[in-house]
Amino acid sequence: MPYKTFKHFCNVKKKELISSDRVCEYCGNNGEDNGWYLSAVGGWGNYVDKTGFSPFGPHRRLLDALFFPFWKTCSKCNDMGIIDADNNPNAWQRCPDCDDSKGGTFIGSTEDMNWIIYVVLSAYPDSVGGKHADEYQEIYEKYKFDLENPVPDTSIDGIIKDTNTNGGGLWNITITGDGDRFDL
Ligand SMILES: [Zn+2]
Ligand SMILES: [Zn+2]
Repeated sequence: MPYKTFKHFCNVKKKELISSDRVCEYCGNNGEDNGWYLSAVGGWGNYVDKTGFSPFGPHRRLLDALFFPFWKTCSKCNDMGIIDADNNPNAWQRCPDCDDSKGGTFIGSTEDMNWIIYVVLSAYPDSVGGKHADEYQEIYEKYKFDLENPVPDTSIDGIIKDTNTNGGGLWNITITGDGDRFDL
């Protein structure tokens, strides 16, 4: 279950304390409202909701490094996905401001997410969390197939993209003038 937290600067401990008790056990002062936190189990579920991957295992380091640069924390619920219930600060409700109450929003594209899924599953094949297993496996296999069977994108946009990505390579392009003439 989520629990509410309180914070204050404790004169006995000489530092800021965050606690689930409103009244401090050391100095007896009341803490200020500090929002809701998820229990450990709730936090694990929230991680699966966000990433689609298991919250446990050696893939976390790679996944977190790839995924969280694309994650924008919700300012209303501070990444928790829950807030004070209407008219009752002692109860909680799901945050209405973030994507499916995940505590934030993935701001990358579908391609970005598919790339993350491919890279993480390449290194850690059993890292998907529960309900996303089939979906992510499909994305992984499609991405892998596309990589192994490249269809050259010979549109001008595709050529420019390849050039920018690969620094030239296959296509030796010179963009001249205002960019409307291509010497292939
Ligand atoms: Zn205190
Ligand atoms: Zn939110």
